[in-house]
Amino acid sequence: MENNENVKTENQAPAENRQEGKAEAGARRPFRRHFSNKKKVCRLCAEKIKHVDYKQFHLIKPYCTETGRILPRKVTGACAKHQRQLARAIKINRNLALLPYND
Ligand SMILES: [Zn+2]
Repeated sequence: MENNENVKTENQAPAENRQEGKAEAGARRPFRRHFSNKKKVCRLCAEKIKHVDYKQFHLIKPYCTETGRILPRKVTGACAKHQRQLARAIKINRNLALLPYND
């Protein structure tokens, strides 16, 4: 290895071009770019379902993938209470071999 890298340092942009504010902010990706601002409503709360039972497979199904993964709240919009109930129900269903464990 020879010190060829020292030659390339001259090509770097001068510090004057990097002004604070506009130039940098424009290049940067806006935060939350892939998400919509629409507020999600918990479907189980909307239907006034108090408790999700492991036997109610039709309720659990939309909250997990075909491979048995529990979908995050970020995706489904379920509230914390129902997400906990769903997670428990899905885990019971896995144990009963109604859903697979692995992805
Ligand atoms: Zn809910």
